[in-house]
Amino acid sequence: MTSVQSTTTTFDSLNPATDEVVGTHPVHTAEQVGAAVRRAEAAAAWWASLGFDGRAERLQRWKGIITRRAAQLADVVHAETGKPHADAMIEIILAIDHTAWAAKNARKVLGAKRRSPGLLMSNQAAWVEYQPLGVVGVIGPWNYPVFTPMGSIAYALAAGNAVVFKPSEHTPGVGQWLVDTFADAVPEHPVFQLVTGFGETGAALCRAGVGKLAFTGSAATGRKIMAACAETLTPVLIEAGGKDAMLVDADADVDAAADGALWGGMSNAGQTCVGIERVYVHEQVYDSFVTTLTEKAKDVRAGSDSGAKIGPITMPAQLEIIRGHIADAIRSGGRVLLGGTVGDRYAEPTILVDVPESSEAVQEETFGPTLTITKVKDMDEALDKANASKYALGGSVFAKAKGMELARKLRGGMTSINSVISFAGVPSLPFGGVGDSGFGRIHGPEGLREFGRPKAITRQRFAAPLTLTTFARTAKVDAQVAKLITLLHGKRR
Ligand code: NAD
Repeated sequence: MTSVQSTTTTFDSLNPATDEVVGTHPVHTAEQVGAAVRRAEAAAAWWASLGFDGRAERLQRWKGIITRRAAQLADVVHAETGKPHADAMIEIILAIDHTAWAAKNARKVLGAKRRSPGLLMSNQAAWVEYQPLGVVGVIGPWNYPVFTPMGSIAYALAAGNAVVFKPSEHTPGVGQWLVDTFADAVPEHPVFQLVTGFGETGAALCRAGVGKLAFTGSAATGRKIMAACAETLTPVLIEAGGKDAMLVDADADVDAAADGALWGGMSNAGQTCVGIERVYVHEQVYDSFVTTLTEKAKDVRAGSDSGAKIGPITMPAQLEIIRGHIADAIRSGGRVLLGGTVGDRYAEPTILVDVPESSEAVQEETFGPTLTITKVKDMDEALDKANASKYALGGSVFAKAKGMELARKLRGGMTSINSVISFAGVPSLPFGGVGDSGFGRIHGPEGLREFGRPKAITRQRFAAPLTLTTFARTAKVDAQVAKLITLLHGKRR
């Protein structure tokens, strides 16, 4: 059994396009969460004992099952989030690739490695290896209910940990699907378990004695997670919200930049942590950028029919925030070039210009299909404005000559040059934020190390002529060591 049963309280997950009940799930109590973590501790010992190869073989098996049943998983994602089936497939494909990478590279990244002992300790052999933390608690959001939590789950499993996963209350069915298919691949022990419910269930997971808590969600909840984890000194990884900017330089391919801004801002109805929400465009190409973008955006429509490119807003409460940001932009002098309407379920793609930097539409995460486009005199101004945000997750630069320079200077964990969001699909690259966007990294070698504890080991190879770690040390040895250290490091420069 991989999920905790026997609870009386339940909740429904709803289809945001129709309000139909997609599934009914238990609201797990703190006791049940604690019991899941205790079971996971036992399973973790077995999982760790399999070693890198044993785990990799089983993770590849799971990856194969996800791949073969991807359309079925996409159906669940579509039903619970409302996003088009094809978009659900994209996040599943990326998650499969990440799982394969984590399984394949865990030994290389985390396995024992020799380190130089240095001159003073040259009689020692030195190693470091990354050992599993035990049980990792993963709390996930609903917007990319496969790709986002899998960035923690697959890497934590590959590093040798058991995982207890609390998916968003909007997407519990996706979590259940992942846990069930893992049990098909690894039936022996509950290495990957599900707990479902609301914030209280997540808070219980923070307090249940896990080795680390990997959280993805809003910055506001991230603060609560840290506070709860602080009670037991449980380390945390926080992947929080974003307000990602795109910079468009004078020498950029304007058509490509407009295409990138449109997809980066509107895909998944703008409900993307690394979605583009602000665009800063060099004055020399501003007019042509705005014209091209507005023209292209006319083809993007919200709905749930096959012709619609974006689905509903998954969380009803978010509609009010999107509406509020558009209203604040207009109130403070902004103009709507396209869209601007937010209904009961859908928000139409919205392009805003002349919005002051102080407006909520520029300052706060909108998490809807909106873009603010701002004219700048040069890229220094673009950088100043882009970097003034409290959020700093990803970002994008469209430029020829200065692409790399601008990418380095754009504050945040990841930047794509001449494309959008590409970094998320490169499994060898770390993913994570700065400031209110959080800290710690998923993906890549850094993401594997996040779920391991570095263990240092020395082995004495022979007795040293100058042994420091003994009371038998003489004044002569101390003098020789002092002389040696002066020779090594005392030279005036
Ligand atoms: P949210 O913060 O409302 O909820 C996230 C998860 O936290 C849910 O599972 C929820 O049940 C749980 N939770 C809520 N209160 C809790 C508490 N007190 N203790 C423990 N757990 C609690 O976020 P959301 O609306 O599900 O997701 C959208 C947000 O996630 C956006 O801000 C988005 O930018 C962000 N996000 C970030 C990344 C990233 O990688 N940085 C990726 C995807 C989404």
